[in-house]
Amino acid sequence: MSSESVDFIREHINADLAKGRYDRVHTRFPPEPNGYLHIGHAKSICLNFGIARDYNGLCNLRFDDTNPTKEEVEYVDSIMEDVRWLGFDWEDRLFYASDYFDQLYAWAEKMVLAGQAYVCDLTADEVREHRGTLTSPGRNSRFRDRSADENLDLFRRMRAGEFPDGSRTLRAKVDMASPNFNMRDPVMYRILHATHHRTGDKWCIYPTYDYTHGQSDSLEGITHSICTLEFENHRPLYDWYVKTLGIHHSRQIEFARLNLTYTMMSKRRLLELVKEGVVEGWDDPRMPTICGFRRRGYTPEAIRNFCAKIGVAKVDSVIDLALLEHCLRDDLNRRAARVMAVLNPLKIVITNYPEGSVDELEAVNNPEDPAMGMRKVPFSREIWIEQDDFKEDPPKGFYRLSPGKEVRLRWAYLITCTNVVKDPATGAIVEVHCTYDPATRGGNAPDGRKVKSTIHWVSAARALQAEVRIYDNLFTVPDPSDVPQGQDYKINLNPKSLEVLPCCRVEPSLADAKVQDRLQFERLGYFCVDRDSKPGKLVFNRTVSLRDSYAKVEKKK
Ligand code: ATP
Ligand code: MG
Repeated sequence: MSSESVDFIREHINADLAKGRYDRVHTRFPPEPNGYLHIGHAKSICLNFGIARDYNGLCNLRFDDTNPTKEEVEYVDSIMEDVRWLGFDWEDRLFYASDYFDQLYAWAEKMVLAGQAYVCDLTADEVREHRGTLTSPGRNSRFRDRSADENLDLFRRMRAGEFPDGSRTLRAKVDMASPNFNMRDPVMYRILHATHHRTGDKWCIYPTYDYTHGQSDSLEGITHSICTLEFENHRPLYDWYVKTLGIHHSRQIEFARLNLTYTMMSKRRLLELVKEGVVEGWDDPRMPTICGFRRRGYTPEAIRNFCAKIGVAKVDSVIDLALLEHCLRDDLNRRAARVMAVLNPLKIVITNYPEGSVDELEAVNNPEDPAMGMRKVPFSREIWIEQDDFKEDPPKGFYRLSPGKEVRLRWAYLITCTNVVKDPATGAIVEVHCTYDPATRGGNAPDGRKVKSTIHWVSAARALQAEVRIYDNLFTVPDPSDVPQGQDYKINLNPKSLEVLPCCRVEPSLADAKVQDRLQFERLGYFCVDRDSKPGKLVFNRTVSLRDSYAKVEKKK
């Protein structure tokens, strides 16, 4: 492990290895299968799998599936697909916390017999009353001193299904006076008559997260159990369970979760957006989910690079979404072929160009990478340009096409506007007439005269029709959960987060474009082929615009 770029987690690991606390590194990524993975999870995935890679160690994928009511197989499958897409491999180490239910139960009986756990019959209200406050200790449950035999009998009957949901719990006998709430006799098992996605109806008692996580880490021989800051206060309990049971002790290390501007990462709220149809589904390109980013056209490299750039820290912070987009542009700039597409077409007729003839012009696929080669772009008498690139009455400083002005058509010719044809009824511009200078083939005048502007275009005779979907942030404010009291976060939804342009024209080289192919439409941004695309009906998502606000920030520094 090189010493530059060592974050505080790697520092802890280095120290543990130096001290001989562990002689190897083994991490895990432990998602709960109750939703799709989002960009925050990507940070945790890159961290856990990245550490394993850097230390020649291992990283497991473990589903933390202790809550039967919210978990679904659909989520399990999507999580595996997303981790793989990000470029990580758990090899044969796929685990489920539910695989350990038998072992966890056996350990619980052992704790009952050792007087370290008891069955408690307090109602939810009573539990609350006994819990105490930040400044005052809790009170012992009147069931705390049951005999081991009575506890074992009751616990076995809980398991056998004799009692209704919520009527009893198994609690660890720790310390009701502890300043840490998590240590005030935490619940180990709750009664829940629910079918589990893997164990079916075998169990009607389920272990809590706290009673499960450290022991699962222990069973898998995890050395470093890396989790987010909200578990910091749970660490004493994590340590208490493994010490009490006398089993392999993984070290829990907490880091700050990723927060991104304009982005909501609560799984509960993302699920709500899906269920209420605010978005099209978990993979809607506006969603911060890994599958949403994938469909939007993001590359795994861009996401991994972003995670490397933000690093890990111990203090919560908010990262600018512009940084993620910057990483994406950086990657797409090198890998995406550049093509021409017109989103809002205006017809140009080149009046001195022979009717019916087609000229095949040479275009460079990506100036950043000569290996990507060249392609032919057809030119014809009628072409499409962007409506915005023409103005009949140009304001000062408008250098694109206007009556009497000359512009360069990218890879093609210099053209001069001669005439504007309007609909006599409405006055709307129907087409614009131009002449071209045949001596400027390729875009340069032999006499050296300059034009101020180069615009993109496609041949009307050969263009393909396409639908283009332009996405904007799903939320209008940097912190979407910041809402006035009593209001819902949905007031911050952006009503203009999706604009559909149904009648775009793209160059014919895109006829064979495949779903997920990523391209730069010159001057417009990066786009990718959406999964709604079919032969004869191309559909593109705008991945990101070309303007890099982050690069500007960097330059100013
Ligand atoms: P839940 O409220 O459902 O537990 P969660 O976001 O914690 O939501 P998990 O499936 O438990 O989801 O998360 C799996 C792992 O990813 C955990 O280790 C968690 O700490 C980590 N993780 C979740 N959200 C983020 C985030 N925003 N940044 C970094 N890591 C995260
Ligand atoms: Mg969690």
